[in-house]
Amino acid sequence: MPCTVFYNPGECSLLKRYTDSVLPPQCWEMMKNKILVSACLMGFKVRYNASEKAQMAEQLALWQQEQRLVIHCPELSAGLPVPRSPAEILSAGGGTGVMHGQGRIIEKTGKDVTAHYQLSAWLALRAAQESGCTAALLTDGSPTCGSQFIYDGCFRGQRQPGMGVAAALLTEQGIAVFSDTQFAELVDWIAEKENPELSL
Ligand code: SF4
Repeated sequence: MPCTVFYNPGECSLLKRYTDSVLPPQCWEMMKNKILVSACLMGFKVRYNASEKAQMAEQLALWQQEQRLVIHCPELSAGLPVPRSPAEILSAGGGTGVMHGQGRIIEKTGKDVTAHYQLSAWLALRAAQESGCTAALLTDGSPTCGSQFIYDGCFRGQRQPGMGVAAALLTEQGIAVFSDTQFAELVDWIAEKENPELSL
């Protein structure tokens, strides 16, 4: 059975004794998978309507203590204000299409903000790569961070499967993207990466 607390060796004494005995601390640091996390999931009021989605902050506190988290808001880093008009993707290919020049992102006002959102995706990738993130935990539904679903571009609250621009670019560049509803999958993914024997 997988040890679901392996990502916190302090709570798993057997594994801690083992890793401490064979690995110097700097190796443990190198093995540790870092995670790019949407700033709104950590309680920062950076969403378009100046709200947050901090329901995960408690679950993520342990990883924060372990310095695994890189907290980032792609839209803010690209210079978009808070609050801002909601935006949706107009592309059959979702965020992937937009990043390949085959779609647009528009605000509810009708303003084309494609370039801002493309920049937000590139900045998310840079933040992830510069900090050595191997995974990302992103807020679903967003035209930037969405990974399981986005909205259909008509501003009527209609969901459709697809990714936002940052989730699409991170995935394309080999970073494993999980939505805020996939926390358990991310825990398993990290346990398997850091101790592959557990999955045998
Ligand atoms: S861009 Fe991502 S991190 Fe920023 S508010 Fe939107 S969902 Fe949250």
